Amino acid sequence: MTSRCIVILLDGLGDRSSPVLGHKTPLQAARTPNLDALAALGANGLFHAERPGVSLPSENAHFAMFGYRQEEFPGRGLLEALGAGIEINPDEVYVLAHFINAEEAGNTLYVKQHRPRVAAGEARALVQAVRRYETDDIRFVFRQTKDLDGILALSGRVSPLITDTDPIQVDCPMMSAAPWRSAAGEREAVRTAGALNSYLSWCYRTLGDQAGNRDRRRRNRVPVNAVVTQRAGRWKDVESFARRWGLRGLSISSGLVFWGLAAFIGLETCKVRDSDEPGADLAGRLDQAFSLAGDYEFIHVHTKAPDVAAHSKDPRRKVEVIEALDRGLAAAVDRAGDEETVLIVTSDHSTPSNGPLIHSGEPVPIMVTGPGMRRDQVRRFDEINCAAGALGQVYGGDFMPMVLNFLDRSKLKGLMDTAVDQPYWPGRRSPFRLNNENGK
Ligand SMILES: [Zn+2]
Repeated sequence: MTSRCIVILLDGLGDRSSPVLGHKTPLQAARTPNLDALAALGANGLFHAERPGVSLPSENAHFAMFGYRQEEFPGRGLLEALGAGIEINPDEVYVLAHFINAEEAGNTLYVKQHRPRVAAGEARALVQAVRRYETDDIRFVFRQTKDLDGILALSGRVSPLITDTDPIQVDCPMMSAAPWRSAAGEREAVRTAGALNSYLSWCYRTLGDQAGNRDRRRRNRVPVNAVVTQRAGRWKDVESFARRWGLRGLSISSGLVFWGLAAFIGLETCKVRDSDEPGADLAGRLDQAFSLAGDYEFIHVHTKAPDVAAHSKDPRRKVEVIEALDRGLAAAVDRAGDEETVLIVTSDHSTPSNGPLIHSGEPVPIMVTGPGMRRDQVRRFDEINCAAGALGQVYGGDFMPMVLNFLDRSKLKGLMDTAVDQPYWPGRRSPFRLNNENGK
């Protein structure tokens, strides 16, 4: 019997064609014998976690893949706070924050450089300088997560429905925090946005005269003199992954947002770190997945490496990383004939290694191997060949029902073996009692 599904998730794998690669995508241009061997053993297709054209960050794409609706999403600020081990207060709002170099002009601040290079001690001193603030009965605490990045926790009568102040780009003004239009009449959102603007002004005034920055100016270094924020979030109660899908799940991943997402939906985590050898990292994670496979029915094996390579905007760098990851997949090819394992290889979103976009809206390739899997004609795992595969176009909401089906756990519609019409089978059933007769 098929008893587990291992999802190998190559983050940001999908891409666009590049002139420097002869108008191929990095995945098309890369030599990938292991991915191609896997593609030949099963069914292939294209996957988009939402719908084509929509650019998704990893957290939203994964959230949809794991079978959760967008209205259940708590915001990345909350996920990173959870991932960082911050004790979550369900009334607080958590916002991603980082330090920048800014220049004042015409009553605004222009973002000149995100996260200027600093020593570890300098970063700690900067965080300390802006760590606590209070205005209008709203309290701010800045907690460092890594170097010049952190989480800003807001408490009091606060709302997460506020806009970002980080334009992400450079040489353009920082933005004002404002309530979402849908919350413009809500006092808490208006006050939260106002208090955040007040905090960020105070940060700029405070950091301008901070000892480390005075020293940096003397050494002709740009001051680290402002903080920008994005993606506020707050706790929501959601059904656990195990309850929703009937599967014990594990995520083997690196990075706060993935640890936070796993914690949020109740997947166990195996926290790993990235080295500068993505192929060896992936091989190690796969080894862990296969050794733990008796304990879990759904294992997410993640690597961020293709996404990071694409953000360098060098398509050739992404080709190298994909080839390294392919070498790390040799064990997966050996195990693909395993009668107990469904193996899925796919990605969460496309990250274009050229052009201005952060992520882009093209679908990504997906392959599935396992017992009884239909075998199609696809022999190369890439964005073009997989489009001709037997899975066709798969969307986010299809993903977990497909997993249940491949695991032989999909419930026949109409059966009610429990009081909840769950998608998996068998459900948590109540046994019949012989002492059910009247009066007994
Ligand atoms: Zn990315």
